[in-house]
Amino acid sequence: MAKPAETRTAGRKPVAKATRSAAETEKIRGALAARRDELNAEYDQTLSEITELQRDRLTDSAGDDQADTGTKTFEREQEISLANSIKERITQVERALERLDEGGYGWCERCGNPIPVERLAAFPSATLCVSCKQLAERR
Ligand SMILES: [Zn+2]
Repeated sequence: MAKPAETRTAGRKPVAKATRSAAETEKIRGALAARRDELNAEYDQTLSEITELQRDRLTDSAGDDQADTGTKTFEREQEISLANSIKERITQVERALERLDEGGYGWCERCGNPIPVERLAAFPSATLCVSCKQLAERR
């Protein structure tokens, strides 16, 4: 499908069609901050689980056969990759908060419409509105 011809308004970048009220921006900020707190708590918990697993590994490895050791190593790797992905999501949310302050957050990259607050709260890294996202997925 051909891309719709770019509309040139005197060489300017397309301006968002709608504006967001300050109250809405605050709502997004609140949702993002809550999300970040949630993720931070999840991250701390995962880290303490890793520590626990590590301690178990050291204290209770006397009777282990190779399979046990393998399972424990696997569990530990799983925990670490979980921790890393949580960390990444925290970074995403923090970046979103920065962009929100600059006014560049929460607008659909494709159509320039505001992405609904609920969607941003659920997916802080969303850069497309629901209908554009659906279009993108259908291709
Ligand atoms: Zn859109």
